[in-house]
Amino acid sequence: MPTERHETLTKIVATVGPACNRVDTLVKLIEGGVRVLRINFSHGSFEDFENSLRVARQAADRTNTAIGVFGDLSGPKIRVTTVDNNELELHVGDHVEINSREGFVGRRDGQTGVVTLACTYDRLVDEVEIGHRLLINDGAIRMLVTNKVADNEDQLGLGPRLICNVLVGGPVSNKKGINLPDTHISAPALTDWDEECAAWAVENELDYLAMSFVRRAADLERLHGFLESFGRSRSGIRSHTRLPIIAKIEKPQAIDELEGICDKADAIMVARGDLGVEMDLAEVPVIQKRIIRCAHDHSKPVIVATQMLQSMIDEPVPTRAEVSDCANAILDGADAVMLSGETAVGRYPDEAVSVLTRTARFTEDHRAQVMGQQTRPPRLAQESRYRTAAIAHGVSTIAKDLGAHCVVTWSELGGSARYLSQNRLTIPIVAVSSNQTALRQMALHYGVVPVWMPRPASPEAFLQAVDQLFLDRQWVAPGDPIVICRGDPIGTPGVTNQIRIHYVGDVCRVTWRVKGE
Ligand code: ATP
Ligand code: MG
Ligand code: MG
Repeated sequence: MPTERHETLTKIVATVGPACNRVDTLVKLIEGGVRVLRINFSHGSFEDFENSLRVARQAADRTNTAIGVFGDLSGPKIRVTTVDNNELELHVGDHVEINSREGFVGRRDGQTGVVTLACTYDRLVDEVEIGHRLLINDGAIRMLVTNKVADNEDQLGLGPRLICNVLVGGPVSNKKGINLPDTHISAPALTDWDEECAAWAVENELDYLAMSFVRRAADLERLHGFLESFGRSRSGIRSHTRLPIIAKIEKPQAIDELEGICDKADAIMVARGDLGVEMDLAEVPVIQKRIIRCAHDHSKPVIVATQMLQSMIDEPVPTRAEVSDCANAILDGADAVMLSGETAVGRYPDEAVSVLTRTARFTEDHRAQVMGQQTRPPRLAQESRYRTAAIAHGVSTIAKDLGAHCVVTWSELGGSARYLSQNRLTIPIVAVSSNQTALRQMALHYGVVPVWMPRPASPEAFLQAVDQLFLDRQWVAPGDPIVICRGDPIGTPGVTNQIRIHYVGDVCRVTWRVKGE
C-alpha cells in the first residue's frame, strides 16, 4: 500500500526524553515512522511527564496520526542517585563505597581516590552479601562486594555501606540502574512511586502502562487491582475500558511463568536491558524467540526493547550487528521494536528512526516474498474456536489468494484488528473505529493502520466511506481488490462476523458480483 508517509508494518516505539521532547522533533519522528511513544517514569518528575505527554499528543494531532503513548513504571529497580556533574568515570581496581543516603551526590575523593555513591534502596546493606556482584548501567560496569560497614561500625558518619572493587569500569551518570544478580531483593513488585505513576497514567488517559520486573502473573493482578480501585474512586475516568498492561519480561522467574504472564498481560515487552544482566547474556537471543512465540500463542502484541541501535546515541550510523538484531527481531515475530536512549538522550534520534524504518521495510519485503505462506494464527485463540480469531484467519487466507492490497476492518475496541494482526499478513490492516482510545492502542499492533471514522448508519454507508478514504489518501488504485470485515450491527464490539471482497471505488460492481455468485 503506497502511502504518503513512511508506513511500515512493524511498529516503532520511541522513548521521549530531553533529546526529543518538543512538538517539532516528535512530528519528525512520527513522519519518520514512529507510532508509539514511551514515557519512562524512572527519569524526571511529574512536570516532565506532563510536558512529554502534552507534546506527544500535539505531535499526533499535527500529523493526524493515531499515536499510542505508554508510561513505563520503574518497579523495584535500584538506581544510583545523582553524581557530581552527572558524570563519574570508574576504573578497574577502584575502591567504591555505596550507601543509601537520600540526597547524597556521588563523587570521587580527590585525595584518597575513593568513590562514594548512593543508591535508591534503603535495605541494600542488609540484603547484599559479601561476594555478590553489583552491576551498573545494564551490566556495563561490574563490581564485586568485598566488605560491608554496618551502622554500629561506622566511624565516618556515612551510614551503613557496601565496599566494592571495580572489575570492569565505565562512566556512571545520574539514575543509572543497579543490578544485583546474586541477591534476593525483598522490595515489592509495585512500589509507592509506581502507584503514584499508575494513578497519574489513569488520570492522564495514557494508552498502556508497562510494568517492570514482573515475576509472576500475580504481579499483574496486583496492578490490575490497583488500577481498578483507583478508577472506581475517580468516577468518569475510562468508564468504557481499563488501562491495558504491558508486562516487561526481564527476570529469570518470569521465564518460568511465561504462559501465565502472557495470559494475564495485554502486551509483552522483551526488556533485554535487565534480562541480559539477570541471566546469562548468551541465553537472551533464544529466550527472545520463546517470549515472542508465547505472546503470539496468547494473541498478545510484543515489543523487543533495549540497545536496538545503542551506538547511535553517539554516532550517526549504527553497527552491522545492531541492524541485524533489528531485522531478526522482526523475523522472530515482534510487533514492535523500541528505541530507548537513542531517542531519549541520543544525538541522532531522526537517523535512528530512519534506520529502523528502512530495515523494517526490507525485512517485511523479504517476509512477503519468502515467508508469506509460513505465518500461523495464534494457537490458543484458534483452539478455543473464538469467532473473531476464525474470521481473522479466514481473511488472511482470502487476502493471500486474492492478491488483495489491503484488509479493512471495523474494529470498535481493537479486537478484530488484534486478531488480524496476529496472522501476520504481508499487507496493511486498516482498522476503523469511532473510539480514539482504541485507535491509539491499536497503534502498537503489527500491520495495523488505525483510522478514525464516525460510526456509519449502514453497511452500504461503510463501504462508501471506505472507498472515499482509500481514494482520498491514494492508498490503492480504483479497482484494486481489498478484503473488508465487520460486525453486524457495525460498531458493536465482539460481533465481527462478515467478510466481503471489494474492488475499490466500485460499490455497484461488488453488489452485482455478490448477487451473481
Ligand atoms: P529502564 O530499565 O526502564 O529501561 P533505563 O534507565 O534503562 O530504564 P531508558 O529509557 O532505557 O532508561 O533510557 C536509556 C538511558 O537514557 C537511561 O539510562 C538514561 O541515562 C537516559 N534517559 C532516558 N530517558 C531519560 C530522561 N527522560 N531524562 C534523562 N535521561 C534519560
Ligand atoms: Mg533501558
Ligand atoms: Mg528496565
